[in-house]
Amino acid sequence: MSIKVLPPQLSSKIAAGEIIERPASVVKELVENSLDAHATEVSIEIRAGGIDYIRVSDNGVGIIADEAEVAFERFATSKLSGASNLDAIETLGFRGEALPSIASVSRVSLITRTASEDTGTRLEVGDGEITRRPEGTDPGTSLVVRHLFRNLPGRRKFLRSAATEASRIQTMATRYAFAYPRVKFEMSIDGKIVFATSGAGELREVFADLYNVDVAGAMLDIVIDTDFSDEGLVVPSGLIGPPSLTRSNRNHTSIFVNGRWVQNRMLGYAFEEAYRGFIMERRYPMAVVNMAVPHEEIDVNVHPSKTEIRFRQEGKVFSALQRAVRYTLTTYSPIPEMKQQPVAIPHVASMSSSIGFLPTSFSGTAESHIKSAMDMHEDIAGHNANAQTGLNQPISSSIPYSALPVLRVLGQVHNTYIVAEGPDGAYIIDQHAAHERVVFERVMADAAARSPQVQMLMEPVTVDLDPRQSEILDSHLELVAQIGFKIEGFGERTYILRGVPGLLVDGDPGQGLLDVLDLMGDGGGFDTWEERAAYSIACHGAIRAGDTLSIQEMSELTRQLEECNQPHTCPHGRPTMLHMNSSSLEREFGRR
Ligand code: ADP
Ligand code: MG
Repeated sequence: MSIKVLPPQLSSKIAAGEIIERPASVVKELVENSLDAHATEVSIEIRAGGIDYIRVSDNGVGIIADEAEVAFERFATSKLSGASNLDAIETLGFRGEALPSIASVSRVSLITRTASEDTGTRLEVGDGEITRRPEGTDPGTSLVVRHLFRNLPGRRKFLRSAATEASRIQTMATRYAFAYPRVKFEMSIDGKIVFATSGAGELREVFADLYNVDVAGAMLDIVIDTDFSDEGLVVPSGLIGPPSLTRSNRNHTSIFVNGRWVQNRMLGYAFEEAYRGFIMERRYPMAVVNMAVPHEEIDVNVHPSKTEIRFRQEGKVFSALQRAVRYTLTTYSPIPEMKQQPVAIPHVASMSSSIGFLPTSFSGTAESHIKSAMDMHEDIAGHNANAQTGLNQPISSSIPYSALPVLRVLGQVHNTYIVAEGPDGAYIIDQHAAHERVVFERVMADAAARSPQVQMLMEPVTVDLDPRQSEILDSHLELVAQIGFKIEGFGERTYILRGVPGLLVDGDPGQGLLDVLDLMGDGGGFDTWEERAAYSIACHGAIRAGDTLSIQEMSELTRQLEECNQPHTCPHGRPTMLHMNSSSLEREFGRR
C-alpha cells in the first residue's frame, strides 16, 4: 500500500472528531469565540438537543467582510501571530480549528459585522462550499449550526437523547456564565429560556441567577491564608459551597484556570479532597473557582479541545487550591460564624425574635447558614429523612477539627437549641444533633473495646421479628451483642431480650431492638456495620428536638460533646452548633 496524504475533506473530518464530539462541544467553541471577541452579551439557542439547531450570537468585535471566509480555513486564527506566544496564551482559542471543524460536520450560517463597517456579512458554509453576501445586522457575530453530524451517521449514533444532549449543553453554558460574570448570558432550549444572567459582574449574583438567592447567599468567598504567601504565583478565587450545601454529582463544581474551564482530574481531586470530612461521601460541593496562574506556567496546547491543561509546577497548583479551600472551610465551618452586614434582611428579623439575642442584621451568608442549619435540624428531628436515601456517608475520622472549648449553658430555645457561652462568644447547639454525635462516638468506642454498657431488664421480654429483621440479627449477632443487646434465640424469628444498650434505657426495650434492626438495615448511608449499628442507636436513643432539658442535663450534654472527637458535626456531617464570636457581637452592637 502506498502512502497518500488524505484529501482535505477527509482529514478535516478526522480532525473535527477530536474537537466536535457532541453538540455541547459546538456550543463550547462558539461561546469561547464570543468571549475572545470581547462580547458583553452572549445568547445561546438550541433545538432538539442541539442536533438540529444551535445558535450563538454575541455583540463582540465581529469579523470584517473580507476575512469571514478565511475564518473557516483550518489553522486560521486572529489570536496568534508568531510561534513565540504559544507559551503565553491569553485567549480561549488559538488553534484556528473550531470553525472549519464545525463546518465540516454541519451546515453553518455566519452573520457578522464589525463596528467600523456599515453593513454586515452573511456566509453560508456546507459541503465544502462557501457563499458570501452582504446583510444588514448589528455589530457582533451570530453563528447558526444546523444538522450536526448529518454526514457522519456513525457519530450521530453515539449521541444520547436530545434531552441529555441539551442538559450537557446547559451545563457547559452555565460554566461560562460563571466564569464570566461581566458577560450577560441567555440560553434557550426549544424556545424556552432556561437561564439568564445579568452581566453585572458579581459572581454571587450569577449564583442567584442560576440557582437562587438562598444558594447565592450561602456560598463562601474563598479566603487565602496569608501565612502562605510563597505560592503567590497561583491565586485561587471564587465561591465555594458551605458543607451544608451539597449535590449528588460533580456538575455543580467548576474549576477554571485563567477563565478557561479545564478538565484536570487531579485538580478536581485536589478540590474534593479539601472537603474531606466536611461533607458526606458521594456528595459533591458546589463551587466556582478560578485559578489565576501565570500564563507561562501552563500549557493548554495539549489537546484540540483545549480543556486539558498541563502545569509546569503541578504540585504547587494543587496545594494552593487545596489550602485555600480548606482554609476557607475551617474559617467559616464547621461552626458557621455569624457575620456583620449593613443591610437588615427581613427574613432574619423574624428569626431574631425567635432566637432572642441575635442581631437583626447580619450577612446573607450567616443568614443562610442559620437557615440551612435550621432546615437540617428539622430534617434530623424528622428522623433523618436524608438518611433513608442512602446518600449520606459517615465522615472520616481523620479530620483536624479543633477541640470544642468549655461551654457554660445559659438556657434552651424552643426546647430544641441550647444557648451557651464560651471563651469567644455565644454558641447555639442543636440538642438532637449534638446528642447523636455523643451517642455515636460512645457506641463506636464501646463496641471497639468490646465493653458495651448493658442495662439488664428486670423481666426479659420476647420479641417477634419480621424476616428482614431476623436476617439482620442472625447475620450480625456478635455486633448486636457488642453494642449492648443481650439476646437469645427462642424459636423461629422469636427472641428473648434480657438486656439493652445503656443508652437506650428509655422506652419500650423490644421496640428499641426492632427500631435498631430496621435502622441498621437502612444503613443510614454508613458503609460499615459497626457504624450502622452505632448510628442506629444514636438515631433512636438521642434526645429529640422538642424535649425539655434542665440546665444540668444541657450542661452534661455539652460536657459530653466537648469530649467528642468531632464535636462540630453530627454523624452525618451536619453542624451541631452555630457560633457568634465576641468581635461580631461587638460589631453588631456598634461597640466597635
Ligand atoms: P480560534 O478561536 O482558535 O482562533 P476558530 O476557528 O474558533 O479559531 O475561529 C477562527 C477565527 O474566527 C478567530 O480567530 C476569530 O478571528 C474569528 N471568529 C470566530 N468567531 C468569532 C466571533 N464570535 N466574533 C469575532 N470573531 C470570531
Ligand atoms: Mg475558537
